[in-house]
Amino acid sequence: MAGIQRLVFASANAGKAREIQAMLGQDVELLLQGELAIGSIEETGATFAENALIKARHAALESGLPAVADDSGLEVDFLGGAPGIHSARYAGNDASDQANLDKLLAELDGVPVAERGARFRCVLAFVRYGEDDEPIMVDASWEGRIAQHASGTGGFGYDPVFVDETAGCTSAQLTPAEKNSCSHRGKALQQLREELRRFGLLNAA
Ligand code: IMP
Repeated sequence: MAGIQRLVFASANAGKAREIQAMLGQDVELLLQGELAIGSIEETGATFAENALIKARHAALESGLPAVADDSGLEVDFLGGAPGIHSARYAGNDASDQANLDKLLAELDGVPVAERGARFRCVLAFVRYGEDDEPIMVDASWEGRIAQHASGTGGFGYDPVFVDETAGCTSAQLTPAEKNSCSHRGKALQQLREELRRFGLLNAA
């Protein structure tokens, strides 16, 4: 397969699409699946990888184009890896970021700093076509811990309670560029770019 010219992103998130477009460079046209009238598919997998692949295959099958999808979430050691793949709906279906974050702080109430270890994870899946049996998968994580209280106004989701020990602040207190340089998604995008280049699928960038 020659370098990709058009690629579908299996998500409705325009912010993530901008990050992926920046990683791909201007030679590749990134289309959101909604622009092609492709609806979302139920995430029935048991892992980030399974869910990312389900979404990428669906978008590729429906569009006839190569597709990329991501799946991400927060794993908290004290909670045995929860909320994990359920991060977006930890406090219930359609729960707000604030409700999810409040539930997390309540679950960790009284838990000492040393036991509040956590990581964000991001898996990206790329398929050349829907039934591609050699999908390209990358997986990256960002180690940190859960703060006792929320701080910062940047980012989204659990950013106000996720502390990066090196930076000494929460993810919501980092600028977008700072977050991108150490985040699970930033690192996964970097890895995907390298893999796409290695397979000759990315000409520039
Ligand atoms: P999804 O991959 O868009 O389904 O995101 C899953 C959920 O994980 C989000 O709704 C957030 O709650 C959480 N999450 C994933 N990445 C981040 C991040 O970079 N910051 C904060 N929360 C995140």
